[in-house]
Amino acid sequence: MYKFIFNKIKKIIPKISETEIIALKSGGTSIDRYIFEGKMNYKQLFSPIKKNILSKNTENELNSLLKLTGENNVYPNNKINDIMKELGNRGFLSMIIDKKYGGNRMSIELQSQILSKISSYNPSLAVVTMVPNSLGPAELLQHYGTDDQKKYFLPKLSTGEFIPCFGLTGPNNGSDAVGEIDEGVVEKINNKIKIKISLNKRYITLAPISNLIGIAFKLKDPENLLKNNKKGITVALIQNSQPGLLLETYHNPNNAGFPNGTIKGNIIIDPEQVIGGEKNIGEGWKMLMECLAVGRGVSLPATANGSSKFITQTIKYYINSRKQFNMYIGDMESVKEKFIDMYINTWIIHTSVKLTNNILDSGKTPSVITAIMKQQTTERARTILNNGMDIYAGSGICVGENNFFTKFYNASPVGITVEGSNTLTRGLIIFGQGLNKSHPYIFPLFENIQENNLYEFKKNFNNLIKNIINNYLCLINPIPNLINKNKSQHRLEKNTLKFSILSNFVAILGGKIKQKQMISGNMADILSNIYLAYSLIWHHHHFKSNNILKEECIEYLMQDAEYKINLIISNYPIPFFKLLLYPIKTNIKYKNLEDKNKLYTFIINNEELNEILNNDIFYKGTVLEKLINLSKLDKSSKDYKLLYEDIIKVGEYKL
Ligand SMILES: Cc1cc2nc3c(=O)[nH]c(=O)nc-3n(C[C@H](O)[C@H](O)[C@H](O)COP(=O)(O)OP(=O)(O)OC[C@H]3O[C@@H](n4cnc5c(N)ncnc54)[C@H](O)[C@@H]3O)c2cc1C
Repeated sequence: MYKFIFNKIKKIIPKISETEIIALKSGGTSIDRYIFEGKMNYKQLFSPIKKNILSKNTENELNSLLKLTGENNVYPNNKINDIMKELGNRGFLSMIIDKKYGGNRMSIELQSQILSKISSYNPSLAVVTMVPNSLGPAELLQHYGTDDQKKYFLPKLSTGEFIPCFGLTGPNNGSDAVGEIDEGVVEKINNKIKIKISLNKRYITLAPISNLIGIAFKLKDPENLLKNNKKGITVALIQNSQPGLLLETYHNPNNAGFPNGTIKGNIIIDPEQVIGGEKNIGEGWKMLMECLAVGRGVSLPATANGSSKFITQTIKYYINSRKQFNMYIGDMESVKEKFIDMYINTWIIHTSVKLTNNILDSGKTPSVITAIMKQQTTERARTILNNGMDIYAGSGICVGENNFFTKFYNASPVGITVEGSNTLTRGLIIFGQGLNKSHPYIFPLFENIQENNLYEFKKNFNNLIKNIINNYLCLINPIPNLINKNKSQHRLEKNTLKFSILSNFVAILGGKIKQKQMISGNMADILSNIYLAYSLIWHHHHFKSNNILKEECIEYLMQDAEYKINLIISNYPIPFFKLLLYPIKTNIKYKNLEDKNKLYTFIINNEELNEILNNDIFYKGTVLEKLINLSKLDKSSKDYKLLYEDIIKVGEYKL
């Protein structure tokens, strides 16, 4: 029987390219493994955490930097070089560089707090801070550079003497980053081995002001000149003085106000310019994927965190000061509904960022979780932004001093598009990589088949079947797993079991999953919602944070997860297996709308939550500061009237 199943599975296994295998193997796992198993390991989830508080000194440096730079776009701006110098001098360009190279290495949580605060105030400044601290020259050099490269480049990157950028994508290689990538050919020139590269890159952040450029290209060695005979995707470093290099044009990404541009030209480099030297030729994709496994879980979620908190807090005060029809707009249910959605999503971003930072700080590199965080936080931040803008209405549309939306609205699509565009990340990567990486048995079974190892295959297959049966039994008989839990945790655990069962049935579709992206995308959403919900449980456990809000957020996530579980079962294409799935469909319970009114009153009056959100953002001199001041004034006073009039003022320009 096993031989029959072995041969059947062999037929449905998709053909996986080498680049995909590398991407699949990059990074590790964390609690995503337990979600695929169907049962959370609370001992691991609740393992002790380290306190991570910004030092007074760093906080002062950060606050004074933000006051100095203000809210304006940093590019085009004739002060951009001074701004980069300030960032370097204060240690904000070297948060991932070791102290021994002059860096200011700090925990992921602290990096995230700093980036969130900058993003809450000046998103363009956040981008120029974020890039040197994420996937690029510094990160690659630290992991893979030769000693000489590290000693030369890292101290200068730490001070900001070198401003880095990293060029991977071009007109023909966007999402398929290494598909039609620039090529480099090995040649002998004046009896020395050289690499001749044609560069045509676009969208490269910081390129217009960069003097240390990381490039990725496909190396070919047609005359077999290299000793080790290596070829393939390679990453190298060039300086802006490199002969033949053209840094001549910039893009304008939606007036979001940061440097972004092209890298072109025909250049000749030495093999020593490859990061890590000649031995790393052909290792570029692996190097990039390994670093991306961590990187995408930090900076972009931090920016989503900062912008969401600023917007939600400002709208919270605004709806309690703006009146129409002689009542506060916050008392109108349609406004309330949008605001509650904003608040719930902001809190979900907050707790999931904290949990993910903690996982990354423990040394784990969970690639599926970081993909979830990148996609989910940037997407939820966009929802928050859109809802907030609807509420701020005319003031959010017209450019002017009190319109804080324009800067966030312009910057929001950047996070959605870069480091794996969200459409692709949701539809292809999260669940696909989850099956291969987080699932305890699928990749081992795949390897057993590749290696023709029937003996190991039997063991893994039996374990998989045991896991499925066990999960079905737990669902039917919720004792002892599901007792003594509060309502939302109980619901979450049930859905974890259902997701685990369902993922095995979806895996039967084999290679078709790559095309069936509506199924894969909805499975990604279920997995993501479950991960986010565990972050709420985790946060409540460690920080004793608000229980009412936690319960509401989990219910919100589970409602969506249950709808999508049902949706996938209804659309499952294999009739026999579909019958086995019907019992796990959920009879969705609908929310009592009156609860939203109660939640609104609770949020508006909760000082503790107010403090948490305000502490994570910078709002000196912004409309939020004005609104907070307004809330402290006597509503019948003249000062109140004057300040209110100032707040509702919209930009006016002479004809
Ligand atoms: C402001 C900005 C900054 C950037 N910074 C850098 C940088 O510093 N360095 C760098 O190298 N690059 C950078 N990029 C490039 C960025 O990584 C690419 O824009 C991104 O990979 C998407 O490529 P594309 O824009 O060509 O879209 P396309 O690849 O053409 O994709 C179009 C759409 O199709 C979807 N799609 C594509 N393939 C699939 C698939 N298999 N399944 C499902 N959906 C799919 C995508 O999600 C997208 O929605 C930047 C881009 C921007 C806009």
